Amino acid sequence: MIQSYKKQPHLSNKYDVIVIGSGIGSLTAATLLAKSGKKVLILERHYTAGGFTHIFKRKNYEWDVGIHYIGEVQRPNSAIKKLFDYITDKKLQWADMGEVYDRVIIGDKTYDFVKGVTNFKAQIKAYFPEEGPAIDRYVDLVFQANKAMGKFYINKTLPQWVSRFLGLS
Ligand SMILES: Cc1cc2nc3c(=O)[nH]c(=O)nc-3n(C[C@H](O)[C@H](O)[C@H](O)COP(=O)(O)OP(=O)(O)OC[C@H]3O[C@@H](n4cnc5c(N)ncnc54)[C@H](O)[C@@H]3O)c2cc1C
Repeated sequence: MIQSYKKQPHLSNKYDVIVIGSGIGSLTAATLLAKSGKKVLILERHYTAGGFTHIFKRKNYEWDVGIHYIGEVQRPNSAIKKLFDYITDKKLQWADMGEVYDRVIIGDKTYDFVKGVTNFKAQIKAYFPEEGPAIDRYVDLVFQANKAMGKFYINKTLPQWVSRFLGLS
């Protein structure tokens, strides 16, 4: 339940955990704790919850302040899809971004970012044919960085001796 602290400033109940800020990270951690039986209070200083996940409207347009798409959620067995399913009781539905998920317009030139790694590379190479090997190298590096991230973040959550024992650091 979301409550304005100004309207209800007396928090008399006791909490197992108090989370400061309501970004996607805090909300995920808080939900996992609440689902494991903890009583959790989330305190947010902004007038709305969600951090960079929230949107605002001006005239007839809707704007993202941060997140506009999330990868890997289309794969039923990806860790991120399983996590979102768990914390939302499978209520969160994902919309496909379509074939072109980003369009960059610079002056009179337009560059489409298309779905799928093979298609993406082919499309960018079509825009910059002389950069083929560099585009391949760039995409490979993105995948390498992505792979290394798993180990990096697991390492951050463990005590140093456990991490050393497991050969992660
Ligand atoms: C322009 C932009 C575009 C992005 N696009 C994408 C994208 O397409 N896909 C993607 O996966 N990621 C994207 N990101 C990154 C993603 O938005 C962030 O990594 C993620 O939302 C950060 O979440 P977080 O949990 O760290 O907290 P945040 O979203 O940063 O939220 C922190 C919250 O804590 C609150 N807070 C801070 N201090 C206090 C305090 N002292 N007391 C009370 N409340 C406090 C803040 O008000 C805020 O609500 C984008 C980021 C930006 C800026």
